[in-house]
Amino acid sequence: MPHPVPPYYYQTLDWNRLVADYPPAPGYFDTVWKWPRERLVALQQQRLREAVQRAWQTPFYRRRWEKAGVRPDDIRTPADLPKLPFYTVDDIRDSIALDPPYGDYQGRAAAAAAEEPLRIFWSGGTTGDPRPTVYTQWDREAGAILTQRMYYLQGVRPGDVVMNSWAFSTHNGAWIYDHALHHWLGCLNITTGTGNVTATEKQLMFAHKYGVTTILSWADHLVYMANLARELGYDLQRDFKIRTLPTFGNPLPVKEAWGCPAYEAYGFHEVQVISAECDAHAGLHVFEDAFIVECVDVDTGQPLPDGETGNLVVTCLYKTGNQHIRYNIQDLCRIVSREPCACGGTHLRTDRFLGRSDTMVKLRGINVWPEGCGNVVNKDPRVTGEWFCYAETKKTPRGDVDELTIMVEHKAGIGDAGALRAQLEDRLKVEIGLRINVEVVGPDALRTLTGLGTDRPKPKRFEDRRIAQK
Ligand SMILES: [Zn+2]
Repeated sequence: MPHPVPPYYYQTLDWNRLVADYPPAPGYFDTVWKWPRERLVALQQQRLREAVQRAWQTPFYRRRWEKAGVRPDDIRTPADLPKLPFYTVDDIRDSIALDPPYGDYQGRAAAAAAEEPLRIFWSGGTTGDPRPTVYTQWDREAGAILTQRMYYLQGVRPGDVVMNSWAFSTHNGAWIYDHALHHWLGCLNITTGTGNVTATEKQLMFAHKYGVTTILSWADHLVYMANLARELGYDLQRDFKIRTLPTFGNPLPVKEAWGCPAYEAYGFHEVQVISAECDAHAGLHVFEDAFIVECVDVDTGQPLPDGETGNLVVTCLYKTGNQHIRYNIQDLCRIVSREPCACGGTHLRTDRFLGRSDTMVKLRGINVWPEGCGNVVNKDPRVTGEWFCYAETKKTPRGDVDELTIMVEHKAGIGDAGALRAQLEDRLKVEIGLRINVEVVGPDALRTLTGLGTDRPKPKRFEDRRIAQK
């Protein structure tokens, strides 16, 4: 019997080329980060041409581009991108139906793991059937470098003790954070998983006892942890050494809860970290040596000028396996600036995640995003930061009327909840432009609805009850 030789991890990648192409921090922040935009766009142009050639080898893209009458040679610069059709999660689902179970969009067959180290993760637990992504070793390592840059930009340093409280599950997040910190940033990782795996009380014990300097979790959970720590009798400043809290979600309540800098970032499972906030807190810098981002109109799909809100369309430049050319992720965003930032970076900046266009609620002819309502109520210091929206249809003598209600948790001891409710309704009317009902509930009352503290990768924030009612 011959003994098959496995693809040994240290032998299967050109490591020198990897760090030359995608430099990690700190070198990256002294070089590419500060390049003039023309130089950056020239690099994007070269990488785009290569990515389009790779995509052309994939049945998924060839099928779609041939149908649209476009060939790889038609794409010479980033400005040519709108010639290519974008794709959405629905096209991925179609691809899986066409060629189950992996779809015809993967750049590698699963069996290729015998020749090169591959990983597979899934997305889509919240919006339908799971969608697999196969990652080559290059894609994992380059993605880990992007993640390392994010953590470095946000104050994590070699020697830090980092507690990773994300869910280690079928999706990618927790694994790539671990990989980035362990392989590329010299941190000591304490791996707890979520509260379901390691009780939050025990996580706080770890953080206290081992001098944890950073906790990785989603923003709502970090706020929850701070509140629980106080209830357990900890003094957050005296008993912990937390120095920085990089997160996904709104960092402002996190900063307030822990009394240390907090930052946000953006990314999604298939392409890993795309953008991250710097110390200037003036938008999220896109790692433009690895991505080209566009914003397109939600209804027409046409490119939008900078500053206007639409769907984010992502083209990924760094991956060798699975390609992502004009992936319309249906997250609402806008490009804030292409001017140099106070931090010295020249990479363009986007706004924070503004909601999902496919959870958009059409209410009395106006598009409302539940996340936008959440952002409005969370400005009030009397609320905990926890909220949940539902849409319902009310029967009236004049016919059916769609209503949106936001449930908001108040902090303990705030006095008159009725007054809070009236004031939040007024504030929503001013900022959203129409009447939205508010229900004020007690601290922790929304946990069963949002799934906060469970294995859900993102808390549930919206339920459309109109479908069941009609
Ligand atoms: Zn900056």
